Amino acid sequence: MTEFVVVGGGIDELRGVVRGEVLVAGEAGYAEAARVVMAEGRPGVVVRCAGAADVVAALRYAEARDLPVAVRSGGHNAAGFGTNDGGVVIDVRPMDEVKVLPDDVVRVGAGAAWGDVAARLGKLGLAISSGDTASVGVGGLMAGGGIGWMVRKHGLAIDNVVSAEVVTADGAVRRVDAVNEPELFWGLRGAAGSLGVVTSYDITAVRQPTVHYGTLLYPWTQTEQVLNGWAEYAATAPESLTSSLQLAPTMMADRQVPVAIMVCVAGDPAVLEPLRNLGTLLTDKVAEVPYAEVLSDMSMPADWRPRIRNGLFDMWWPDLTGRLLEARQQIPAMAMEIRALGGAFGAMPADATAFAHRDAQFMVNSVVMGTPDAQAAQDFDAFWETLRPNGAYLNFLSNPTDADVDSCYPESHRARLAALKQEVDPGNVFRNALSVAPQPE
Ligand SMILES: Cc1cc2nc3c(=O)[nH]c(=O)nc-3n(C[C@H](O)[C@H](O)[C@H](O)COP(=O)(O)OP(=O)(O)OC[C@H]3O[C@@H](n4cnc5c(N)ncnc54)[C@H](O)[C@@H]3O)c2cc1C
Repeated sequence: MTEFVVVGGGIDELRGVVRGEVLVAGEAGYAEAARVVMAEGRPGVVVRCAGAADVVAALRYAEARDLPVAVRSGGHNAAGFGTNDGGVVIDVRPMDEVKVLPDDVVRVGAGAAWGDVAARLGKLGLAISSGDTASVGVGGLMAGGGIGWMVRKHGLAIDNVVSAEVVTADGAVRRVDAVNEPELFWGLRGAAGSLGVVTSYDITAVRQPTVHYGTLLYPWTQTEQVLNGWAEYAATAPESLTSSLQLAPTMMADRQVPVAIMVCVAGDPAVLEPLRNLGTLLTDKVAEVPYAEVLSDMSMPADWRPRIRNGLFDMWWPDLTGRLLEARQQIPAMAMEIRALGGAFGAMPADATAFAHRDAQFMVNSVVMGTPDAQAAQDFDAFWETLRPNGAYLNFLSNPTDADVDSCYPESHRARLAALKQEVDPGNVFRNALSVAPQPE
């Protein structure tokens, strides 16, 4: 345990004890530090933590003043969890080390961005199953699970974690793994945002220098046929294939944007052949590339507040295709991607991690681009109300409700998390709309 630093005074005293930067309103850099990708925020102070001791000091500062705490890594959370109004933001971004340990285990700072992790490991022929976007942070993606381009081959990002260092609400700095504090280790893998501030993860990397990656395009007129054919193949395809089907907003190009299947093969590209016969192939842009190159980035106007919602489905059925295509017409600004799961993701027992939904075969993720007006938001919510998925993924929800907490964590997981929370954070310091509240015995 690290000694709990007492910060009873003001900002100057906080600055005196932390190694990283401390920013308050009115100072140069504050405005940029206050905001995240999808929220403005006006925190009382942003502490850019250079190490676990800084996190402890920031927590102590917040506790002494009864201030809310927000934790931030890459700042991409759709619900804006990475900032707040009037509270303390614990920004872990300075903790961005990527250090290779024996046996291909990599110590990854929670503040690193996945693109940097992939680029640095790529030079060594190593890779970590993570997400699809370079600037997403290690801390936030890991907090929910991490569904990326190798999820069917190598599982969720959290599935390859062997240990983590975390600062809990009491100021203790703990290294947890399957033997030391196994329950907290369980909880961090799917609910880290409820339990503490992770400073680093030790993750087993895979020897995967290259993958076959790219896009197959089919005419928009064949959307239904391609979607049904893809879903049928994706459910049984070899686990070396991870793929997603992308449906552009119907407001684009007079509704005639081709339907796209994006693929990533960690193995023999022959697994792609059945996909090439799903419809009239317009474009086939699949090539062998270094894994680091599959992590891309998209820039979004700073004032966009898109509505984002996902659902996990244990199976596909033709009526689901019909309902998605109908909704596309009704909500012209909605983009959809359907990611295939299963494979190594599904091989993990449901109770092995706080992420629960191991039976899911598909994730439907949807985004209303821009900042939807009231009608579009209402139509979007109504559409999801009728879909009734088997669960939801924590990390793609822009307007979370209590019902979403239930969707992310089924009863058994929620009860276990509530008991763990009571043990490590009885004061509910780490709380947001998707965290599980402590449950006193
Ligand atoms: C363009 C884009 C692409 C995406 N692609 C993918 C994808 O391919 N796969 C996927 O799984 N997800 C993806 N996501 C979702 C992403 O995983 C979540 O938005 C995630 O919350 C972002 O992590 P962050 O660190 O960037 O965000 P932040 O806003 O910095 O953090 C979000 C929350 O995570 C928790 N958290 C962050 N750091 C820590 C920490 N050190 N310790 C404990 N809790 C912490 C906190 O609750 C925090 O508020 C994408 C999001 C965007 C915007």
